[in-house]
Amino acid sequence: QLRNAATTGGNLLQRTRCPYFQDLDKPCNKREPGSGCGARDGVHRDHAVLGHSAQCIATHPSDMAVALAALDAQVELYGPEGTRRLPVADFHRLPGEHPERDTWIRPGELITAVLLPAATAGVPSAYRKARDRASYAFALASVAVALRVTDGIVDQVGVAFGGLAHRPWRARHTELALLGAPAAPDAFEGAVALELAHAEPLRDNAYKVSLARNLALDVLNRLAPATATA
Ligand code: SF4
Repeated sequence: QLRNAATTGGNLLQRTRCPYFQDLDKPCNKREPGSGCGARDGVHRDHAVLGHSAQCIATHPSDMAVALAALDAQVELYGPEGTRRLPVADFHRLPGEHPERDTWIRPGELITAVLLPAATAGVPSAYRKARDRASYAFALASVAVALRVTDGIVDQVGVAFGGLAHRPWRARHTELALLGAPAAPDAFEGAVALELAHAEPLRDNAYKVSLARNLALDVLNRLAPATATA
């Protein structure tokens, strides 16, 4: 029922499930700027390991945004200054000093379309997520990968992580390392490690780094033979 009533734009604009954000009795810089962050020294097992700030360690909850980021999708916005487009990968902000702002959408703007480029339409892709229970739950960590291999060499790749940051985390370091590299387990391992070297885990969520690594390697190693063309 929820799925039938929802929209693609609404999915991108959903806000964090941080329990301190939802509890009006708790301090939260996102809900009330300047009030503090209850999660930083509190319960933060589900929170960010990449790109967080002293003001906020929340994660973005969307699965779909992660897949759209890996596929180079664009958000079309319409507002007082006309129409403009932003890559989904750059649509959400990192928290920085202003965690109350989730995206780069401007006052008065509406999402009028989400566009998938033809260039990634035929590229083999997969999404995998880890969650706390078998039924519906938000990702502890997830990964979306689009991968094309020709003659054993990676010639197109998009990788994005979910559950790790305030926005879908496009893994540019991984992608740069893989483009032109052999589609082999060693190359995948080195490229994923390059990205996750930027992680800054908190007291109780270091497990997310190895979880994300294992998810990414699993998906890359499964996709490589499926996508290979001679
Ligand atoms: S992590 Fe962000 S959303 Fe959660 S309590 Fe801290 S400021 Fe609020």
